[in-house]
Amino acid sequence: MVNLSDRMKKLKPYIPGEQPQDRKYLKLNTNENPYPPSPEVKRLLQSLDADRLRLYPDPAATKLREKIGERYGLNKDQVFVSNGSDEALSFCFYAFFDSRYGKLLFPEVTYSFYPVYCDYYGIEYEKMPLAADLTIRVEEFVKRKDSCGLVFANPNAPTGTYLPPKDILYLLEKYPSEKPVLIDEAYIDFGGESALPLLRDHKNVLLVRTFSKSMSLAGIRLGFVLANKELIDTLVTAKDSFNSYPVNSLTQRIGEIVLSDVSYYQTINDKIISVRESFSSDLGQLGWTVLPSKANFVFVRKEGVPGKAIYLKLKERGILVRYFDGDKVRDFVRITIGTREDMERLLHEMKYIS
Ligand code: PMP
Repeated sequence: MVNLSDRMKKLKPYIPGEQPQDRKYLKLNTNENPYPPSPEVKRLLQSLDADRLRLYPDPAATKLREKIGERYGLNKDQVFVSNGSDEALSFCFYAFFDSRYGKLLFPEVTYSFYPVYCDYYGIEYEKMPLAADLTIRVEEFVKRKDSCGLVFANPNAPTGTYLPPKDILYLLEKYPSEKPVLIDEAYIDFGGESALPLLRDHKNVLLVRTFSKSMSLAGIRLGFVLANKELIDTLVTAKDSFNSYPVNSLTQRIGEIVLSDVSYYQTINDKIISVRESFSSDLGQLGWTVLPSKANFVFVRKEGVPGKAIYLKLKERGILVRYFDGDKVRDFVRITIGTREDMERLLHEMKYIS
């Protein structure tokens, strides 16, 4: 075995949800959208000229950043694009968090990639306690002026719980303005309200978004960051010191066109919200605890049945959900909201779990 860096020896990678190849499952484990991307995407793919693949993509993804800016009322200098939002998060951790200024804080239950990036970049972190109902306690964060920054997902993952903009505003007003606050809005389009309007007065805020969930494009790997120009310039420096072309040319083209299809995405995501609400209420009636969710998934438990057992029983029946082996979460499973038919099938199987 060759020598490894100490950093490498310590790394415990993030484990993504299964993408099984062995048999056909009803996949409710990785928060993919059950509906296809807008019809414009198919039209674009059919009209693509393979010869153009000779060329490198635009390293600055200018047109795509302009389109994203237009959609969110910003200019392109306030937009950074990346190969999935995981990559955007990684660049943000690299660029903005340094334990010399204190530990990075994030909720004790949240997206499990955050501690992995910390170990990757040698950032010390501290997990902040949640309330008994697994919601984020803003007070805990604002007390901690000795930290180097904050990161949280809103809605949070895997819980689905949500902080309204007034709580985020309170947090930003109390927390030191020179410390970066990274808000991961991967699931914001499923009924939550974005912190976007807060960017104007709070120059330390970064919003991370993705095309993977509400825009049904997990396969093209496209994420982005919205923030003020100085922060975006910093991310560009981080990117250009690592890979000039993280967003390939097909992905750029697709990203440029889908943002115009607002009403298509509104319709499919409204359906997901409506199915989430009825599924949650049906499951509650069967005696399950369902955390209130503003995401395209729900976090649920059944008294006396460990999460792993629920996961295994459903897998046997051809349905994949996600289970996490951590304190406070091992009694739960996370279920992605599919179509109404998907959720009826799942509900039927869940009746027999006890
Ligand atoms: N943030 C959160 C909270 C997530 O759950 C995910 C999906 N695993 C991501 C970011 C990354 O999504 P993507 O890389 O597909 O944009």
